[in-house]
Amino acid sequence: MSSLLIRNGQVIDPANPNSGTLRDIAVVGGRIVEPEAGRPYDEMVDASGCVVMAGGIDLHTHVGGGKVNLARLLMTDDHRAEAGPIPLPTNALELPSCGHSTPGTLATAYRYVEMGYTAAFEPAMVPSNARHAHMEMGDMPVLDHGAYVMMGSDELFLELLAAGGPEQRNFAQIRDYVAWTVNASKAMGVKVVNPGGISAFKFNQRKLDVDEAHVHWGVTPRQVVRTLARAVHELGMPHPLHIHGSNLGVAGNIASTLETIEALEGLPAHLTHVQFHAYGTDGPKKFSSAALALAEAVDANPKVSIDVGQIIFGQTVTASGDTMRQHAQSQLASPRKWVGADIECTAGCGVVPFRYREQSYVNALQWVIGLELFLLVKNPWQVVLTTDHPNGGPFTSYPHLIRLLMDRTFREEQLAKLHPEVAANCALRSMSRELTLDEIAVMTRAGPARLLGLADRGHLGVGSAADIAVYRDEADREAMFATPTHVFKDGAAVARSGRVLALPTGGVHFVEPGYDPIIEKTLRRHWDHNRSMRFDHVAITHDELCRCGRGGRLLPAALFDGSEG
Ligand SMILES: [Zn+2]
Ligand SMILES: [Zn+2]
Repeated sequence: MSSLLIRNGQVIDPANPNSGTLRDIAVVGGRIVEPEAGRPYDEMVDASGCVVMAGGIDLHTHVGGGKVNLARLLMTDDHRAEAGPIPLPTNALELPSCGHSTPGTLATAYRYVEMGYTAAFEPAMVPSNARHAHMEMGDMPVLDHGAYVMMGSDELFLELLAAGGPEQRNFAQIRDYVAWTVNASKAMGVKVVNPGGISAFKFNQRKLDVDEAHVHWGVTPRQVVRTLARAVHELGMPHPLHIHGSNLGVAGNIASTLETIEALEGLPAHLTHVQFHAYGTDGPKKFSSAALALAEAVDANPKVSIDVGQIIFGQTVTASGDTMRQHAQSQLASPRKWVGADIECTAGCGVVPFRYREQSYVNALQWVIGLELFLLVKNPWQVVLTTDHPNGGPFTSYPHLIRLLMDRTFREEQLAKLHPEVAANCALRSMSRELTLDEIAVMTRAGPARLLGLADRGHLGVGSAADIAVYRDEADREAMFATPTHVFKDGAAVARSGRVLALPTGGVHFVEPGYDPIIEKTLRRHWDHNRSMRFDHVAITHDELCRCGRGGRLLPAALFDGSEG
C-alpha cells in the first residue's frame, strides 16, 4: 500500500479539533492515518509555509446533462475566444484551454483539480436524462460526482399531489414515487426548481407565487415544497430537499423566499443560489438588497442551509431548469440568442447567455447582495461557496471570490469600480468582516460534505479519504487558492503547482431509499400512456452506473432513520 507524509503544514480542518495547528498528515492506502515516528513513507511533502485542507467539494455546479450540452452548443464563440492559438499538448495530461463558461468534461475536471477541488455535484438532473448526466459526469476524470434529480414539475407528481387533496391522503404513494425516482436515476438528492412553475409555464402561466394555484392541477408551490421536503426527510436521504425557489431574479422576490422557508414547517432544506432570490423593491430603481432579511431567516432556521450563487462580472451563460424565468430573461440575452426546451413531461430547461457588467445598476447590486449574504449569515456551516456555475459565473472564479471574502481592502477596491449609486449606498460598504481560513474551509469542503452526508470526505480526520489540497500561505488569497502546490485524490498525487499529474477515475455518490414496489403499477401505467421510453428500461442498474462512470467506484451514501423527529 502506498504511503504519504505531508509535513509541518498548518492544518485547516474545522470539522475536527485543533484546526489551525502545525502538524503532519499521514496517508496509507488512500486513507488518513495517525502519523508514526520513524516509519518510512513512499512520498514526503514539505508543507512548511503552507496550509493543508481537505479537497474542495462543489455541491452545486452544472457539469452534466442536457442543458449543459445545449449551453456548450450555444456558446461556440466562448470556446473560440478562450482558446486563442491552441498550443499542441506535449503529453496527454496537458489540456489546452477549452471554453470559459461551459468547458468540456475534461477541461471541467482539469480546472477543478488545478484549484484543489476533488468532488462536484450536478444539481439539476432530469429523470429522463439521467443516463446522459451520469455519462457526462463520468467523463470528468479525478472528480467524485453525484447529482440531484429534478422533481416537482413532473406531471405525475402534480397529478398525485392534486389527487391527495390538502390533507395528503396519498402521501405514502408520493413518497414511494420520490424514492423510486431517486433509485431509478441513481441520484444523491432531490432538487425542486420553481416548484410547480415549470409545468405551469406550459399551461401559459408566466409567474407562480408561493400560494398561487397552478391553473391546471390546482396545487401551489407551498404544497410542492412541503411535500417533497417531507418525503426526502422521511426517506432518510442525507441531503435535504435542494430548493431553487419561486420567482428567481424578480424584484421583491424576498417575500417568496421567506414564504418558501416558512412552507418547510421546520423540515430541513437547502436553498440554492439565494443571491438570485434576495431582492427587495426599495429605492429609486425599485430593486434593492434583501440580504439582511434572508440572513436573519437563515440564522433563525438552523436546519436551513444555503449556497450563494455569487455573480462574477464578465461573460457567462445561464442554464437552468426554470423555463418560466429563462423565457422572461431571454430578452436580456447577451449575445442575443437562447434555447428553451420541454423535456418528457418531467421538466424543462432554458439556456440564456449573459454578460454581467460592473456599470449595470442591477448587476452591481447582485454582486453586492451575494457578498452581503456570505458576510451576514452567522454560522458558516449553513453557507456554501458557489457561483451556481455557470449561471453567476464560471467556477474558475472561486479564488477571486475567496479573496473578496477574506480581504476587505480588495473588496472595497472592487466595489469602487461599480455603478456609483450602488457603490455609494450599499450596506456592504460598512461590512468589515473578513472570512478566516477556517470559515473558507467550512464553506468549500467541510460544510458541503456534512450537508451531503459524506462522513469520510471534506475533512482530514483519521480514517477519512485522503483528498487533500496544499496551498502556499500567501497574502494574495486569489493567487493562493488558484494554484495549490499539491493536490491528492484518495492519496494519489493528481496535481502539482497548477499542472495535472494523473487522471484516476472518480467515484459516483448516490442514495438508495426504500419504497413499496406496488408504486411501479402506477408508474408503468403512466409510462405506457405518456412517455417515449419503455418503463422496463427506465431504471439505471449498478452495472450500468459503473459503465457510465468508466468503471469508477460506486459510493452509495448511508441513509438515516427519517421516521424520527
Ligand atoms: Zn437553479
Ligand atoms: Zn444551479
